[in-house]
Amino acid sequence: MVSAVDPVANSAHVLYVSEGLAQLVGHSTTSLLGQPPDTIFDPSTPPEQMDAVANLVEHGKQAVLPMQLRVGEGESVRVKATFLAVPSISDGWPLYLSMFRRLDIPAESPPLKDPFDSTELFDALAHPGSLDDVVVHLAERAECFIPDGRVVMALAYAHEPTSAKFDLVRTGGLKPSLLTRFFQHIRIDGDLSITQAVPVASLPLDLALEFQNDGTAALWVTPMLRADGEILGAVAVAHPTTAVPTDAEKQLLASVARLAVVAMERSRREADLALRALHDPLTGLPNRDLMTDRLEQLIDAAKWAGPTGKEVLAVVLVDLDRFKTINERRGAIVGDAVLTQTAQRLRSELHVGDTIGRVGPDQFLVVCPSRKDEADAFAMADLLRQAVVAPIDITDQESLQVTASVGVVMLHGDDTLDVADVIANAESAVDVAHEAGRDQVSVFDAELRQQLAARHELERALQEAIDGDELFLVYQPIIEVATGSMMGAEALIRWDRPGHGVLPPALFIEIAEDSGLIIDIGNWVIKEACRQVADWPDRLAGGRPQISVNLSARQLSHPSLLPTVNEALDFYQIDPQSVGFEVTESMKVEDLERASQALVALAELGCHLSIDDFGIGYATLDYLRRFSMAHTLKIDRSFVDGLGSSREDTAIVSASVTLAESLGLTVVAEGVETVEQLEYLHQLGADYAQGYLLSKPVELDDAHLLWHRATLIPGEPF
Ligand code: C2E
Ligand code: CA
Ligand code: CA
Repeated sequence: MVSAVDPVANSAHVLYVSEGLAQLVGHSTTSLLGQPPDTIFDPSTPPEQMDAVANLVEHGKQAVLPMQLRVGEGESVRVKATFLAVPSISDGWPLYLSMFRRLDIPAESPPLKDPFDSTELFDALAHPGSLDDVVVHLAERAECFIPDGRVVMALAYAHEPTSAKFDLVRTGGLKPSLLTRFFQHIRIDGDLSITQAVPVASLPLDLALEFQNDGTAALWVTPMLRADGEILGAVAVAHPTTAVPTDAEKQLLASVARLAVVAMERSRREADLALRALHDPLTGLPNRDLMTDRLEQLIDAAKWAGPTGKEVLAVVLVDLDRFKTINERRGAIVGDAVLTQTAQRLRSELHVGDTIGRVGPDQFLVVCPSRKDEADAFAMADLLRQAVVAPIDITDQESLQVTASVGVVMLHGDDTLDVADVIANAESAVDVAHEAGRDQVSVFDAELRQQLAARHELERALQEAIDGDELFLVYQPIIEVATGSMMGAEALIRWDRPGHGVLPPALFIEIAEDSGLIIDIGNWVIKEACRQVADWPDRLAGGRPQISVNLSARQLSHPSLLPTVNEALDFYQIDPQSVGFEVTESMKVEDLERASQALVALAELGCHLSIDDFGIGYATLDYLRRFSMAHTLKIDRSFVDGLGSSREDTAIVSASVTLAESLGLTVVAEGVETVEQLEYLHQLGADYAQGYLLSKPVELDDAHLLWHRATLIPGEPF
């Protein structure tokens, strides 16, 4: 019995009932169709058992349960029922199949005559990928019941307005070419829902003769029709006489056709799901899973195929530049248009045998077994880059230009890399292209490999540095321009790396940021600076220094920042005003948005906030507007450098001082190296200065000594 469950009405109805079951329960098959399935269950069946059936159907499982079937007035029969739930067919209703076996049949009585109460069939229906098996199995069962007939099964694969084209899944021993011509000749359409007997005499003469030679006098054709009328196939029985099928035979064939439809719906759905699970729905390209799988196979094949040391496979990663910004600023529709058009263009550059997939939101991976040397692969990668650059049409009036950073990895015959390594290497090459200014191709080569290994080593060592007491702070005084006296200092990190000497932050901060170690390191800096502020000596003239600490973008969006600051201030009993934080202006806008909450909280605590490296950022004025809680602007060293000698630099410094003044911010000029620069700053009215002229960053004890001096300006009296 096959039933479908309507989830909305939460009710089920019978779609198919075998002759044997109908006989057993004393109904005709037609009277049971459309009835609720429990019509045949005995009312005395315990409710738990009925619940178990409902539960099974709901969860799509298979189970065997004992049941009682109602077989007439007040009588029942004990059966073993096998239930099998099949996920919803295309109209969305889950199916379930049930097979009943009588438990009380005396051994000698003949088994019930039922072609489809077969566990094999159930198994075939339940297991994916076995559509042909199910169809063949159905034909075999049908042949048992029409002993004179030979059963042909044909599944439709292409649709024309009136007819379908068929694939022969089972020929029943007839000549395939003959059957093909037959199916071309007859019309099978939606009106024909029952078995039609076609005498071979009615066919064109050559067909008729051939069938007759083969011993066939008539063909009974039953279409496999879906509920919406689509023809999914046909069952044909080649019969030796011109007799028309009996009612029982017609019903049997109708059942065969219906079960075949059930199996086909299921297999279609599975194929569809499989396709969707492995492809990106937007571009239709293979997704990361599928690409990884293909790449794995190719890498394996390449390892075997290639001579040692020779390039055997090129892998190209195309990473769109600034795609995230496009998507955020212009919306998903524009973003999608960029992706689909880019995918199309990249695809059109491929050679036979190349594969492309979308492996990330804005990343495409191309695998080229045909490009065997590096120059060839590079040329191909550059074509891909150029394909991206051509303007993309957004509307009739508007087009957009996107660029890509492209990384190439060559695989050699003796490489021991796995998929993850290859993709990671391609990503490193992309990073190089990206850092070199985007819109470029970069090849992962021996040099990059070495750099990467060194980087990994550094990362590992840095991890140990935190616990191993290898980090320390130096202090660079910040002075009042007017007097030269120290008002505070900037804390700058150093790493005393065993065997390497003292490393400046330029050699490790970026790696710390990329690897996430910056959080631990940054928190350590905050605590260490607070500890040292607490011990900072008082000056005879009075006053406390203001010590500022650099924060990286990642720290600002990390939840540990505020608790760390609070705890450190509290533990060392420090006035929040003696601690400042510097936030670089080169921080990206999207990071700034996330950071601004933390900045507001730090300002509310009473800490001093500075905008570091002012002037070099992407959007200086926008930044200023968002960073309205800041107290100080630190003018970047690169502008101070040209003060008095370069007109542009002088203009920028002068404008920055004016801008700061009008916004109520104080100014620190960074990187002051000459007396002339300092004098110029004095004239411009800059408040504070920092630079080698006044002092290099020094260790704590020396910073204390400088703190007691009246002035740090060289040549001025102490
Ligand atoms: P920054 O915040 O701009 O710090 C100023 C840098 O300029 C320091 O380099 C300092 O030694 C250097 N400098 C100061 N005056 C002069 C001068 O007159 N001439 C020249 N040529 N250079 C001068 P340092 O210590 O190597 O730090 C480099 C950068 O590393 C810092 O730039 C800052 O962005 C970062 N950094 C340092 N410590 C930390 C830290 O604890 N956390 C984070 N996140 N970043 C840090
Ligand atoms: Ca700084
Ligand atoms: Ca700076």
